[in-house]
Amino acid sequence: MPSTRVADRSAESPLALKRRARKINRVLAEAYPYAHAELDFRNPFELVVATVLSAQTTDVRVNLTTPALFAKYPDAKALAEANTAELETMIQPTGFFRAKSRSIIALANRIVDEYDGEVPARMEDLVTLPGVGRKTANVVLGNAFGIPGISVDTHFARLSQRFGWTTSDDPVKIESDVSALIEPAEWTMVSHRVIFHGRRVCHARKPACGACPIATLCPSYGMGETDPEKARKLLKYELAPGQEELLARMRSDVSRAAEYRRQDQREAAQRSAGRPAPAFSVEVAESVGPVEDADSTRVADSTLVADSTRANDSLGAEEKS
Ligand code: SF4
Repeated sequence: MPSTRVADRSAESPLALKRRARKINRVLAEAYPYAHAELDFRNPFELVVATVLSAQTTDVRVNLTTPALFAKYPDAKALAEANTAELETMIQPTGFFRAKSRSIIALANRIVDEYDGEVPARMEDLVTLPGVGRKTANVVLGNAFGIPGISVDTHFARLSQRFGWTTSDDPVKIESDVSALIEPAEWTMVSHRVIFHGRRVCHARKPACGACPIATLCPSYGMGETDPEKARKLLKYELAPGQEELLARMRSDVSRAAEYRRQDQREAAQRSAGRPAPAFSVEVAESVGPVEDADSTRVADSTLVADSTRANDSLGAEEKS
């Protein structure tokens, strides 16, 4: 049992709640420096389509489906002209394929007709796209456009309630309640971290309280297994016992991604100064320690997803929003 438990929630002032919420976010940032969007994408179009496809299935399943899909339909125009039967066959593994097929064709048509083929970068436009609600819009804004947003999926809703951040079941109210507690610049990353924590530790039915890094900050400590050894056996993905090598690799990939980003910045600065850029040094990248900033985590997506997908496959289907 944690030595110091969170204070009685009924006596917690709004300021104390905000401080506790931000502390939870900081501890989760340390626990999951590699937190990222678990859907694979290369541009806003791919992310919005992948997010629509992810309804009622796993990100792993979507990531197995989208490479062939985007090879055949690389942009909104191509998808708008897709043959419905062919498209349904391609996305069938994601489930609800007829409705999803209708949605993404209609979505692509609207992007072509109303937005000149480019996914819009404003919430009020995104939510007019078929199949896109606030959750999907915030995923796209935060991860494809760098505009902070809180994405309330089933994990985020459940954990926000357990943390005492909200008493609501309504995603819009939850988004509003949490956005009043967490700094705007952190909205995208707190979404990733809370969802990571929900998938790996604070599960819907068997939360691993005894292995939880925020146990002392959580008023719901004790609703799950509190024995440390038994709780560790409930951990999933790269945190599960026996996955230490995968965890180390994911952390080092974040470091490497940060060096790629710095290299891009150096090259841009040298181009603007009219000087040729030096070749990138992998040795330098590999010598850099763990980095915990949002940009590096986003850049890391392309290197992390392959490993995380393999890990997820070997561990079975994830609990899914
Ligand atoms: S695992 Fe337990 S202690 Fe940790 S956040 Fe969930 S309910 Fe709270």
